[in-house]
Amino acid sequence: MKVKQYVNFIDGEWIASESGKFKQNTNPVNGEVLGEVTQSTKADVNQAVAAAKRAQREWRNVPAPERADVLYKVAFLLKERKEELAQILTREMGKVIAEARGEVQEAIDMAYYMAGEGRRLFGDTVPSELRNKFAMSIRVPVGVAGLITPWNFPIAIAAWKSLPALVSGNAVVWKPASETPILAGEFVKIYEEAGLPKGLINLVHGSGSVVGNAMVDHPDIDLISFTGSNEVGKMINARAGGMLKRTSLEMGGKNAVTVLEDADLDLAVDGIVWSAFGTSGQRCTACSRIIVHESVKEELEKKLIEKIGELKLGDGLDESVHVGPVINRSSLEKIHGYVQVGKKEGAELLCGGEIVTKDGLNKGSFYAPTLFTDVQSDMRIAQEEIFGPVASIIPVKSLEEAIEVNNSVEFGLSSSIFTANVNRAFQAMRDLDTGIVYINAGTTGAEIHLPFGGTKGTGNGHRDSGVASLDVYTEWKSVYVDYSGKIQKAQIDNY
Ligand code: NAP
Repeated sequence: MKVKQYVNFIDGEWIASESGKFKQNTNPVNGEVLGEVTQSTKADVNQAVAAAKRAQREWRNVPAPERADVLYKVAFLLKERKEELAQILTREMGKVIAEARGEVQEAIDMAYYMAGEGRRLFGDTVPSELRNKFAMSIRVPVGVAGLITPWNFPIAIAAWKSLPALVSGNAVVWKPASETPILAGEFVKIYEEAGLPKGLINLVHGSGSVVGNAMVDHPDIDLISFTGSNEVGKMINARAGGMLKRTSLEMGGKNAVTVLEDADLDLAVDGIVWSAFGTSGQRCTACSRIIVHESVKEELEKKLIEKIGELKLGDGLDESVHVGPVINRSSLEKIHGYVQVGKKEGAELLCGGEIVTKDGLNKGSFYAPTLFTDVQSDMRIAQEEIFGPVASIIPVKSLEEAIEVNNSVEFGLSSSIFTANVNRAFQAMRDLDTGIVYINAGTTGAEIHLPFGGTKGTGNGHRDSGVASLDVYTEWKSVYVDYSGKIQKAQIDNY
């Protein structure tokens, strides 16, 4: 049977790269070939950027409520195709179907929310300090937005970025992760069907080193919105910084759940298992450290081992499966490498710690949900992002020590605390130094109407989703209208 080919979408046309090269895309469950994907060059990027630039000149003057009408249609179409998209997501990326449906729902939510922004995009009107003068601020689009996205949330993150970019009057050039090109194409088809004028969204498939670099270096891409690893994010920042190009960077995490001695342990176990092993630990907000008060450590360990033992690994399309594969072989080896590091560092392995090949899983990339205990906060497994189903228990003696351990990593994405004491909960909300904090819940589960992102090594101060994301895609313009008929001098004439 002929393998289906997936191509770019540039200036309203589905076309293969001029390179003529294609790369196979496979299902991480069993290596099944899902399709062949065009591998683009700098010339394809140039074409996409030129189309985006042309289209944006007109789009910026389309009233925002009219731009938003397209987004409402995107929301309807996403909703209509939710199941179909979720199935593609699971086959292409491996997360279990319930989580895939949740991710598509996140894109639907974002589409409705950003469509609503078409009638808001609020600025400020403020009283002028001078008579007969009017003062206000308005948001204006930046221009052409270059989006570079990862494979772990292939549609939600693309929605977080493309929808605010478009509703605020920008055009988009999007390079999705090489691991998830098919879903990216489906999302762009929805924009096309919703009637987004040609040139406003351009999809360019290919490698980060060719397509990504060409986008970062392109003088007509006005901003880069990137989500991915710290390594790539830092490199983008350095390249774009030299051009004074705006960058929004959302990168790794080393998220922790803290369990105090007064916590509901069963609740904490559910929260930990969901956030450490859901999506096979491949969420940027995944819990990879469990900071526990020493007085409840043993009981928590027992309950966790029991619960982890109930997790079923397999094909995420099977509704009874809890944990799917990790994205590919090299990720599997990286995770296994970290487990060896943990053992060498002296951490005690409580369960897991192996590549799973039994029960017909040998064709895929499956890693057993893994739990270490008696981990020291300065060990590599407690400091570096593993991005797989591996969690480490770190015992502490007090809330203060827990906060210190929580904050001792280079990242600052998400943290959570389980406690029944409201005073301690508020202290934690104040002192945990991450961009997201959960009380009596795991480290995952962001909702789209709040800002998403992290402090320290996780980001560079911007946020995805929520109204805050508009700050990435708009410039503030301050406008003064003087109707006094005189040249009035602020700070001078009035004082
Ligand atoms: P990645 O390897 O950094 O890739 C992310 C994107 O960057 C992909 O599209 C990739 O393309 C592209 N890229 C690679 N090299 C590039 C270059 N030289 N120039 C420009 N672009 C380049 O990350 P990943 O493995 O896909 O995703 C996992 C990481 O994302 C984890 O660290 C996770 O924590 C982070 N993440 C963060 C958030 C957040 O909001 N903070 C959310 C989700 C994920 P190719 O696919 O072609 O290599």
